[in-house]
This record gives sequence, C-alpha cells and structure tokens, in this order.
Amino acid sequence: MLIYLNGKLVEKEKALISVFDHGLLYGDGVFEGIRSYDGLIFKMKEHIDRLYRSADAIQLKIPLTKDEMTKAVIETLKANKLNGAYIRLVVTRGPGDLGLDPRKCKAATIFIITDKIALYPKEFYQKGLQIITAKTKRNLVAALDPRIKSLNYLNNILAKIEAIKAGTEEAIMLSYNGYITECTGDNIFMVKDGSLITPPADVGALEGITRDAVIKLSGHAGVGFEEKMLKMDELYSADEVFLTGTAAEIIPVTAIDKKKIGDGKPGRTTLKLWEEFRKLTKTDGVRYDL
Ligand code: PMP
Repeated sequence: MLIYLNGKLVEKEKALISVFDHGLLYGDGVFEGIRSYDGLIFKMKEHIDRLYRSADAIQLKIPLTKDEMTKAVIETLKANKLNGAYIRLVVTRGPGDLGLDPRKCKAATIFIITDKIALYPKEFYQKGLQIITAKTKRNLVAALDPRIKSLNYLNNILAKIEAIKAGTEEAIMLSYNGYITECTGDNIFMVKDGSLITPPADVGALEGITRDAVIKLSGHAGVGFEEKMLKMDELYSADEVFLTGTAAEIIPVTAIDKKKIGDGKPGRTTLKLWEEFRKLTKTDGVRYDL
C-alpha cells in the first residue's frame, strides 16, 4: 500500500511522521473521509471545500491548492490501483515543539491513505441498527464547533465507548441543553407524517456531505423536508429514523434506547432515499482512470 505523504508516495511502513507533530500531540489538524465508487470520487468538490473550510476555521494554511489536493488524491488512488476506495485525507499543523504554540510549526503535514472500504455488515441494513443515547454531550459550538472536522474526536470516542459498552454500534449525542445533534460518526434523520426532519447543524453537528445529498433527494422520495431542533421524545415517536455518513451511506435505525422505532423495520422512505442515493454515487463526483 502506497501512502501520499508530503508530496511523495511512500510504502505504508515508511509513511512515518514526527512525534513532535501537533496533529498527534494536540489533535491540531483537520481531515476528510471520502469515498470512490467505480472510478468516481463521490462529491469530491464538496469534501475538498469542507476540508479547506475546516482548515480556515482553525487558521491552518494548507500548502496546496484545491486542484493540487484533488490531483494528489487521484495520484494515490491510481498508485494503489483502487477503483473503489475509502480515502482519508489528513492535514496537521505539522511538527513543532512541546508547547501549544502553532507558530512553532513551520510546515503542515499532509497525508492521504486510500484503502478498501470497511462497511457495516449487510444485516444491519436489512434489520436496522439499534442505538442508544449517550450521556456524553456533544461539544459546545462556542468551545469547539462540531462543524469543524478536526482531529479532536475524543468527544465522539467517549460516546462511542458508551455505545460499545451497551452492545450497540452508534450513540446519539445531545447538546448541553438536551437537543439532538448527531451520532458519533454519522448525522441523524427522522421521518414523521411524510416529512423528513434533521437537526440544524448549528445545534452542534457536522454538515455531512451525505446529509446534504439526502436533503436534496427528499423530493425524489416524495417527502417534505425541514430542519428542526429535536428532543428525544420526538425521535422515539418517529415513523422512521436513519443515519447518514460517507462510509455508512444511509443506514436504518430500528430501535433507540431499546424502544422500537415505527414498526421496528427499516422504513419505506429510508429505503427509497437509499435507492436514490445509490444512483447519485454513480454520477456525482470526479472521475479518474486507473
Ligand atoms: N458526523 C460526524 C461526527 C462525522 O464524523 C461524520 C463523518 N464520518 C458525519 C457526521 C457524516 O458526514 P459525511 O456524510 O460527510 O461523511
């Protein structure tokens, strides 16, 4: 496996970064998780734009243009002969000293990993996920805005540990004042009385690229759409609930905190949206040839 590291393609074992890198010491950096399907990097522009927005938000200057970054991703996919892949794009503040001061970091570290995608098992899509509500609250927007896709994922990891301890795969994270934000690695939607509803990102959620795609597809699935602040009671009484994310795509949720959602089976709207989403993955992105 070849890794893109600071302008070079190097073997996995030689893709090493400094122990003084502030990405490692402080989680000071940003990243993207992107997917390619059959020679098409899905929603590439949207992912690259979000990466640069996240970097801007932490005042990290990426030393490549967006075009150069796109080329680097394609070069890495080609080098690994991957027609379909999961792409991890990471930019850190780079090596500095042991203090926090970002001015000591003279050059950002950029690496790109392209690998086979690890998916949720098929049965989760057929039966739906059972998830819980985490006690760990989502980061406060005014402290560390979850719209920034930063290397600081400890907040999510703590909630993920709760999910694992409860024997589940995912956990809903609430804002400090009890509103639903998102899950540890996916956005959340509900369907109620023919309307698709998701919390606004400014309550404390990542503006997921899949979330955005699903919102745009709502018309095709014959449902209305609204962004709305949601509490757990509303979610428990939903007709359908599903999660969205680059790796998961659209995955049904059939129980939350052991309470059955709808009739306990993946819902019609969820399946219709998933079908429409699958079509989009064949057309909406940047093409490359191996
Ligand atoms: N929320 C969080 C916290 C995430 O890390 C992700 C990405 N895995 C998402 C939502 C989904 O975003 P996207 O659809 O852009 O993958």
